[in-house]
Amino acid sequence: MSVLVVGASAAGLTTVEALRRKGFRDQVTVLGAEWHPPYDRPPLSKQFLRGDWDEDRTRLRPEAMLSALDASFVLGDSAVAFDSGSRTVTTASGRTLTADAVVIATGLTPRRLPGVQPDGVHVLRTLDDAAALRKDFAAAKRLVVVGDGVLGAEIAATARKMGLAVTMAGPQTVPLESQLGPMIGGLLAELHRSEGVELRLGTAVIGLTDRDGRVSGVQLADGNVLPAEVVVVALGATPATEWLSGSGLVIDNGVVCDACCRAADGVYAVGDVARWPYEDVLIRLENRTNATEQALCVADNFLGADRPYAPVPYFWTDQFAAKLQVHGRPAADAEVVVAEGNLEDGRFVAHYRRGGRVVAVLGWNLPKQTRLHRGQHLGPA
Ligand SMILES: Cc1cc2nc3c(=O)[nH]c(=O)nc-3n(C[C@H](O)[C@H](O)[C@H](O)COP(=O)(O)OP(=O)(O)OC[C@H]3O[C@@H](n4cnc5c(N)ncnc54)[C@H](O)[C@@H]3O)c2cc1C
Repeated sequence: MSVLVVGASAAGLTTVEALRRKGFRDQVTVLGAEWHPPYDRPPLSKQFLRGDWDEDRTRLRPEAMLSALDASFVLGDSAVAFDSGSRTVTTASGRTLTADAVVIATGLTPRRLPGVQPDGVHVLRTLDDAAALRKDFAAAKRLVVVGDGVLGAEIAATARKMGLAVTMAGPQTVPLESQLGPMIGGLLAELHRSEGVELRLGTAVIGLTDRDGRVSGVQLADGNVLPAEVVVVALGATPATEWLSGSGLVIDNGVVCDACCRAADGVYAVGDVARWPYEDVLIRLENRTNATEQALCVADNFLGADRPYAPVPYFWTDQFAAKLQVHGRPAADAEVVVAEGNLEDGRFVAHYRRGGRVVAVLGWNLPKQTRLHRGQHLGPA
């Protein structure tokens, strides 16, 4: 029984490790588009971007642990086509890889602004993206972050700490509003302002200006242009499923799976790219913990467990001195109640309530208490 994992990152690697741990000894191949051995993405907007960590430190596992997996890593080659009936993957270099089971773990592709991409305009998804951005930060004084979500806010905080003049632009009234609601978003807005980030929110970005091929500004829908030497576009990302068109799988904002993360007979999807039924709706989670937890479930199911994947979603974000931990499914329109600590001290746990029950627990610099509330209201970790 052979297994082919497409995508050599958190979700793909964890699936392989779980299979080996559970005693699977047959052939495993891991195909990855990037040349780098598997590395972790959360540090790319934080420690690595700041220059505190080098490339080696972002690696998910040391070389010896990868070798001990006895898997064949095919790196620097992308899957370009897939036939789910025969479970055959074709790669950009012309390889044909067939296996008894295929695990799709190709993650996301960042969105870009339409039109010409002048020098100095970046997205941040890969280690190479982060290295290019870090290099530009060293030579620039003025950054505009296009995007007011988690990634945009993290990049703004990191760049500000590195001494750049930073403007964050985006359509929401406050950062992370659609994800965490106006109250927590308002606190984040205050935090960013107090640290010197200029917020130009509530207006869409419609384009870029450039001079001699280098970005010079960001055009807002209200007619203003924000001057910039470097621009990071953090407008979200879409599932990396182009290679799956014509595969016979259902592709709809991700690889659509059943509750056990099975997309077809002998085909599974895992991590940011997977979409599966959860509490009666199809969801997709874009966070690091999900990549690990879903991989464990896929490995179990491949080995015959038939276990529905029903996690309590979790993500964290670090912005300046604030560490936010979010368990469950917060909604922008949920009632938010401070359950422990207080806002003034910048240390609290908040509950998101809907229909009389707690649907999410958010911690702001109170990790232990946050875990306790999570256990009490959303079930044990
Ligand atoms: C900058 C950044 C910061 C983040 N910070 C946080 C955080 O603080 N907290 C948090 O919870 N989450 C964070 N995340 C999200 C977290 O990193 C992701 O949820 C996690 O990486 C998902 O893992 P994955 O393996 O599903 O996808 P990915 O890590 O995206 O891996 C997919 C892999 O597939 C490869 N691939 C794509 N297409 C192909 C193809 N056609 N053929 C072969 N290989 C292919 C890619 O090159 C990539 O290596 C962050 C993400 C980024 C980008």
